[in-house]
Amino acid sequence: MNLHEYQGKELLASYGVNIQRGEIANTVEEAVSSFAKLQADTGTQFAVVKAQIHAGGRGKGGGVKLAKNADELKEHASNILGMMLKTPQTPGGLDGEGKLVRKILIAEDVYAPDFDACEEMYISVLMDREKKQNVIIYSTEGGMDIEDVAENTPHLVHKEYIDPNLGLLPFQARKVAFNLGLSGTAFKGMTKFINNLYKAFVGSDASMFEINPCLKAGDDSIIAVDCKVSLDENALFRHPNLAEMRDEKEEDATEVEAKSYGLNFVNLDGNVGCMVNGAGLAMATMDIIKLSGGSPANFLDVGGTADAARVEQAFRIILRDDNVKAILINIFGGIVRCDRVANGVVDAYKNIGDIKVPIIVRLQGTNADIAKKIIDESGLEVHSAIQLKEAAEIVEKVLK
Ligand code: GDP
Ligand code: MN
Repeated sequence: MNLHEYQGKELLASYGVNIQRGEIANTVEEAVSSFAKLQADTGTQFAVVKAQIHAGGRGKGGGVKLAKNADELKEHASNILGMMLKTPQTPGGLDGEGKLVRKILIAEDVYAPDFDACEEMYISVLMDREKKQNVIIYSTEGGMDIEDVAENTPHLVHKEYIDPNLGLLPFQARKVAFNLGLSGTAFKGMTKFINNLYKAFVGSDASMFEINPCLKAGDDSIIAVDCKVSLDENALFRHPNLAEMRDEKEEDATEVEAKSYGLNFVNLDGNVGCMVNGAGLAMATMDIIKLSGGSPANFLDVGGTADAARVEQAFRIILRDDNVKAILINIFGGIVRCDRVANGVVDAYKNIGDIKVPIIVRLQGTNADIAKKIIDESGLEVHSAIQLKEAAEIVEKVLK
């Protein structure tokens, strides 16, 4: 689950990380009063108006603007609120339709008064699955795409791995500050920043924190100017306050609905819908679809209880996608016996009524042969198979 910038900053601040302060606004009027409040609270003269959407690269798309007075602020706020913001990271990229901006953050101008003395750095914390360790990735080249920095000047991207048994050690935070070329107040500020950032990462069960840019301001203070956070959904139950930050409007509507039924669903752009129990089997099924000349329209794990109600909800969700030309149901019946799943498929098929695409059902496991018989004798346009290879061949045939 992703957080908005303003939520990520709140989380950082609660761990003592120094942030660019701001006020959230839903309307132009709120933006204007937020600006006045921010000026009073922080002493800032200028403010940046920042679109709050779940995507980076907002500055490039016109979603981050500096306002030097109340009139400019009003103008930027009315332009950005309600716009369809296109960035390289919104669906379809800069040529896509963009994302609707519903909220803006009015943030203090931390680059003033000495813009030229400011230095933008890059810092992120994430898990390196190969090394099985958390890693702090950092660079003096902040404010721009880190992917470009990594490609063009890889020697400027540093990594600090953290031993899970020891946690972040004090010398490691100092090493980061040193490699970033800092000294004096900025060096001290950075070691504190890194320590608290790492505490925030571990404490919130996050999968990523990215601070780009992290600023060394004119007065040598270290400030998180931007903040991208992804949380581990499987750990959200431990953080009810963070779970509340979910913004379903930012997520794929069908995926949100699927989740409410307990289905694990990810939309893809192929033509064969899949309904599978178990994530590993779902991955294997997607591979088989590719091998048979199709391409998966989705990833869908119905979980352990593939009963008629579940199967029906899964069917409805898959069928909503006009690109779907066939549906492959691939269920391994262990505790859920195959004959029960087969009856569920037949019931769901009859309930929905007007299914126009061919359905290929592959049931393997307990009572697989009885299940095949149920499907074959149902009189419906459902193809049955026991072996995965057979199922793939049927998919190939029906796609032709
Ligand atoms: P992103 O484009 O989505 O990554 O949004 P950021 O929060 O990183 O902002 C984009 C850019 O706006 C930053 O790289 C800065 O150059 C600029 N910016 C952000 N905050 C300030 C500020 O307080 N003052 C000034 N002058 N520029 C800022
Ligand atoms: Mn940024």
